Amino acid sequence: MQAGRSGSWHWTNQTTGKETGSIGYSVRPGCMTLNYSIDDQPRTQTISVSETGCNFGGTRQWFICPIRFERVAVLYLRAGRFACRHCQRLVYASQSSDALGRTWRRQHKVEKKLGEDWHRPKGMHQTTYDRLLSTIWDCEEKRDAALCSFLAGMMDRHPSLRADPMLWGRP
Ligand SMILES: [Zn+2]
Repeated sequence: MQAGRSGSWHWTNQTTGKETGSIGYSVRPGCMTLNYSIDDQPRTQTISVSETGCNFGGTRQWFICPIRFERVAVLYLRAGRFACRHCQRLVYASQSSDALGRTWRRQHKVEKKLGEDWHRPKGMHQTTYDRLLSTIWDCEEKRDAALCSFLAGMMDRHPSLRADPMLWGRP
């Protein structure tokens, strides 16, 4: 990521073709500002960026997760904000009306039946527990697939991102 670089992306609902979101970014030394919209509501989030030396020379850049400040390669958009995958599990919102929102609501319902960190509550049958867990994984996979297609779409439109492992590459 070079300081001073900026740009934007738009993404659309695959079935309706309607634009469902957009994101603009601008990079300054040490941080990146994201401007995006969720359900037509504009949002801004500034993410710190850090740099580490790379074994093969050069440097690798990382996002600093805004919730627990760990260094991560990929940030996920959930509940209207970007954070790392781990933290996104902890931060909840289920108000979105889109397909991803439905998977969150479905997952939220299941998680309410489970203990802390998805532990099996006392007295719950193993088969019930397995079924609930697989529902959660199904929701996670659906969202991962949606996210991957979103990122792939962006890379198609912005080939320079491919050379930018910190931004959209999976570790
Ligand atoms: Zn985090």
